Amino acid sequence: MSNWRDTTCGAIGAEDVGKRVTLAGWVDTRRDHGGLVFIDLRDYSGKVQLVINPELAADAAGTAHEIRNEFVVQAEGEVVRRDPKNVNPNIPTGEIEVQVDTLRIVSRSEPLPFQIGEDVDEVLRLRYRWLDMRSDRMQRNLRLCHVVVAAIRRQMDELGFVDVWTPSMTKGTPEGARDFLVPVRLQPGRFFALAQSPQLFKQLCMVGGIDRYYQIATCWRDEDLRADRQFEFRQLDFEMSFVDRDDVLDVMERAVVASFVARGRDAPSTPFPRLTYEDVMRRYGSDKPDLRYGLEIEDATALTRDSQFGVFANAPVVRYIVAPRAFSRAELARLEELSKEWGAKGLAYLVNDGGEIRSPIAKFLSERELEAIRSEPGTTVLFAAGDEALVSRVLGGLRAHLGRELGLAEGAPDAFHWVIDFPLFERDEDTGRWTFMHHPFTAAVPADEERLEADPGGVLGQHYDLVWNGWELGSGSIRIHRADVQQAVFRVMGLDEQEQQAKFGFLLDALRMGAPPHGGFAMGIERFVALMAGEPDIRQVVAFPKVSSGGDPLTGAPTPMPDSVLKELGIASIAEPADSSAGN
Ligand code: ASP
Repeated sequence: MSNWRDTTCGAIGAEDVGKRVTLAGWVDTRRDHGGLVFIDLRDYSGKVQLVINPELAADAAGTAHEIRNEFVVQAEGEVVRRDPKNVNPNIPTGEIEVQVDTLRIVSRSEPLPFQIGEDVDEVLRLRYRWLDMRSDRMQRNLRLCHVVVAAIRRQMDELGFVDVWTPSMTKGTPEGARDFLVPVRLQPGRFFALAQSPQLFKQLCMVGGIDRYYQIATCWRDEDLRADRQFEFRQLDFEMSFVDRDDVLDVMERAVVASFVARGRDAPSTPFPRLTYEDVMRRYGSDKPDLRYGLEIEDATALTRDSQFGVFANAPVVRYIVAPRAFSRAELARLEELSKEWGAKGLAYLVNDGGEIRSPIAKFLSERELEAIRSEPGTTVLFAAGDEALVSRVLGGLRAHLGRELGLAEGAPDAFHWVIDFPLFERDEDTGRWTFMHHPFTAAVPADEERLEADPGGVLGQHYDLVWNGWELGSGSIRIHRADVQQAVFRVMGLDEQEQQAKFGFLLDALRMGAPPHGGFAMGIERFVALMAGEPDIRQVVAFPKVSSGGDPLTGAPTPMPDSVLKELGIASIAEPADSSAGN
C-alpha cells in the first residue's frame, strides 16, 4: 500500500492469521496489564488490537509505555488468533490481534479537551472538529454524505444530466432570504450577492439548449440558523427542458431511490403520494406534515354554528384533533401556552378520562355536539377556533408537537410525499402586497394563467415540495418561459417596468429569444443525509458547520477587518464588532 502501512486496521481478519502486517493509525486506548500492553489501534476502516509482550519485543514495550491516547503510531507484527476467552464478537477484528515486534511513535498528542466520541457540549466539539471527526458518529455521517452525493451524481449522469458550474458571486436571486453581499475592490460601492440558489442560471442553461442541467450546488442564505438551516448548504439542483411536472418528480424520486440503494436501505416505493396544498393544510395544518402518523384535523364548524359556546358559534372555523392521551391539567396548561404562542386566545379541550369527561366547556355544549365529537377513553380533544390560517397554525403546531412528544412516529415506516398545487402568491404581512410563495419564476397552472392579474390570490402555481417525515427536503416548479407572462407576475408583485428591467432585464431578454418550456427541482443534501443518518440536525452531517450565533467556533470567523482593508473595498463599518470570545 505505502511505506507507512500495508493494510488497514479494519481489514484484518481470521484469514490473515500468520501474516506479517504493518499498520499506522491512532491509539484509541492503551491498557497496561502488568507486562503485556494492549493498544486498540484505529484508522478510518476500524480498530484492531495490538499486543506488545516485553519478553518478545523489549524495545516496542518501552515505546508502548510512552504512548498515550491519540498518538499516531506505526506498528509491525504478526496476526495471531486471540485466546478464545478474549474473542470480542462486537468488532469485526475481534477474533485476532497483532503481536507487535516493532512500534514507532509517528506523532504525539497533547492531553485532549474531550475523549473521542464523548458526549460534550457541541461548541466544544466544533472548536476541535478535527478530533470530533475521528468519532464513529462523524466518520459514519461524513462518509454517508459522500455515498449519497456519489449515488446522486451517478444517477443524474445516467439520466443524461450535464453538470454545469454556475457562479456563486452574482446578482441577488430571490429565494425569500437575505443575501450575503460581497464588496468588489475593482468597483467600489458595488456588491455581488452570493447565490441563494442557481435558479436563474439553470433557467438560462435551458434557454441555452443544455436540455438537462444538474449541479451539487452550494447556496448561501442569510437566515437564522436552526436544526435544518446553515448559512451555506448544498442542494441537488436540476432543470429540464420540454417536460411536465411529473417528469420532474420522476427524476427526483429516482435520485432518492438511488441514494437509498447506495446506502443499502430498502428504498421507499414510488411514485410518492401527491397531496394538494389545500388538502394538507386542511388535514394537517402544515405544508410539510409528518405522515408517519394520523392525528388528522377534524372539522366542527357546521356542527357548532348554533353552539351555546359563543367562542365556537362566532368563529369562522372550528376544528379539532384527538390526541391519544388523557392529558393532565399541567400538560394542558403547557399545550395552551404553546397555542397562545401560535396566536390562539386559549385552548378548549375535552379530556376523556376513562369515560369521564373533564372540560370547562362541556357544560356549554349540547348533547348533539358532544355526541358528534365524542372520543375514546384515554384521549383528549383539542380545539382551535378562529380564521382558517390561525386554526391551521395552532392545530398544525399541536399536531407536530404531540407527534414528537408522544413518539407517534416511532417504528412507523418512512413517509415521503409531494405537496402540489400551491397558491402562486401570498400577501406580504408587512406591506400587504402580493408576493411570490416560493420564487417569482414559477408558472401558474394553465387553467389559471388568464386570471394572473385579475385574481392573484386565486391562482395556483405549478410548484411542488418534497417532504420526508415532516422535513421539507426541497422545492421545484414548472417555470414561466414567456416574457409577457413573467412580466405579468412581476406586475402583480408591484414591480414597475423600470424595476423589472433593472432587476431581471437579463432574464426577460432570454425569455424573449426562444425559451423552451422547462422546470426543475432542488433538494437539500444535508437535510436528506441528516434524516438518513437519524440525526436531529444538519450540523451533524456538515464537516465544519456554524452555530446558531452565526459564528464558526473552529476558526473564530467572522472576524473584524482593519479599516484599511474596508477602505480598499469602498466600505466602512458602522458596527462595534460583537464579542465573539465565547467562540461562537
Ligand atoms: N431554486 C429553488 C430553491 O432553491 C428550487 C427550484 O425551484 O428549482 O429552492
